Amino acid sequence: MSTPPSWLDEFPQRIAELDRGHLRRRRRVVLPEPGARLQVDGQSLLAFCSNDYLGLANHPTLIEAACDGARQFGVGSGASPLVSGHSAANEALEHDLAAFVQLPRALYFYAGYATNIGIVPALVGDGDALFSDALNHACLIDGARLSKAQIHRYPHGDLLALESALAASPARRKLVMSDAVFSMDGDIANIPALLALCERFDALLLVDDAHGFGVLGPQGRGSLAHFGLTGAQASRRVLYMATLGKAAGVAGAFVAGDEALIEWLLQKTRSYIFATAAPPLLAHTLRESLRLIEAEQWRRDHLNQLITRLRDGLQTVLRGTGWQLGDSRTAVQALVIGGNEAALAVMEGLRQRGIWVPAIRPPTVPAGTARLRIALSAAHTVADVDKLVQALYELRPAAANHQHPTIS
Ligand SMILES: *Cc1c(COP(=O)(O)O)cnc(C)c1O
Repeated sequence: MSTPPSWLDEFPQRIAELDRGHLRRRRRVVLPEPGARLQVDGQSLLAFCSNDYLGLANHPTLIEAACDGARQFGVGSGASPLVSGHSAANEALEHDLAAFVQLPRALYFYAGYATNIGIVPALVGDGDALFSDALNHACLIDGARLSKAQIHRYPHGDLLALESALAASPARRKLVMSDAVFSMDGDIANIPALLALCERFDALLLVDDAHGFGVLGPQGRGSLAHFGLTGAQASRRVLYMATLGKAAGVAGAFVAGDEALIEWLLQKTRSYIFATAAPPLLAHTLRESLRLIEAEQWRRDHLNQLITRLRDGLQTVLRGTGWQLGDSRTAVQALVIGGNEAALAVMEGLRQRGIWVPAIRPPTVPAGTARLRIALSAAHTVADVDKLVQALYELRPAAANHQHPTIS
C-alpha cells in the first residue's frame, strides 16, 4: 500500500526551482565593524547594503541611550499599547516625532511593515478604492490586499493614469498610496502633484517615507518638509509614514498627520492593537537619534557629496555596457544589470574584491531589471566610493559585446 503523495513533499523541489531560476535567497551572518565595514561570514567587507543612511546605527551616543533606556524602563514593554505597554518613553517619543516632522500628531509602531499592513485596512475597506503606484513597497501592497478595497495600480509615477483612475472611480472613500522615495530605485515621488489630485478628487494621500526621513528636507525632517508641506503648510489630506530602522539607525516606524486621523488609527489598526508595544528602550534611544538627525547637518552634506561622487564615477563605468544607472539623487542608487545571473556574477566579483553590494532580483524588482542596489551612508568615505567605482569598472562587461550593432 502506498501513501498518496502529500503536498508537503513538494518543498524540496520548489526550493530546487528557486535555485534553477537563481532566485534562492541566502542570509549572511554579519557583525559590525568600524566605518561602513561589516564582517560577513567571517570576512571583512566594505558594505553598500545598509539603510543606515546617516551612519547612526552604531553611534556611541545612541548605544549609551539604549543602555540608559534599559536601566530606566527595562527591556520589554510587556503588553500592547492599549493595555499597559504604552510607556512614558513611547509617549514622549510620539510628541518628539510629531514636532520633528511638523505635523499635529504621531503614532509610534514597532515596525514599518506592521504599520502599513495595519493602517491601510483601518482607513479603507469593502466598497472603497485604493490607488497605488506600481513600484510601491510590499507592505503597502499587502495592506491594500488586506483592506478588501478595490485596488487600482497605476504605472510608476504616472500622474495622468492616476488622474483618470480617480476620475473614473465611483467610490466615496479614496486612498492614494505612494512611496516618497522608491526603495529600489531611489527616485522621489511628486508629492505636491499627488496631493493636488487628492484635493481635486477628495482622496487621502498616504506617503511612505522610509527612505526620505532623516535624509531629505531641512534638518532631515523628511520628504513632506522637502516639498514644504509641513507646519503651517501641512494638509489634513496627507498621512505621513516613516520608518526608524533606516536613517534613524534604530528600529520601528510611525505615522503622523491630522489629529482625528491618528486617533482613528489608534482605535482601529489591528497590527497596533493586537501586538506588544515597542520596547521603551528603543523609544528612549530614538529620542536621542532625533536630536542627532536635527543637529548634525554634516551627515547629510557628506552623504550628498558621496552621491555626486558615485554618480560621476559611474558614468565612465557605464559607457558601452548594457548597464543603466537609475535617475536618483538619493542615497539609493540602482545599477540595473538586467539578468539575474549577470547581477549575481557582478555581486560575486565585488565580493572577491572585498565589497558587498546586494543584487536585487525579481520579484522584489520587475523581471529583467535585476540590479545592484547601492546604498550610500554618511559612514562611507570618499575613498570607499572610489574603491567601489574602480571595482565596477574592472567588472563591467567587455564593451565590444554590448555596443549597438552599426546599421550598414
Ligand atoms: C523598509 C521599508 C518598510 C518596512 O519598514 P520596517 O520598519 O523595516 O518594517 C516600509 N516601507 C518601505 C518603503 C521600506 O523601505
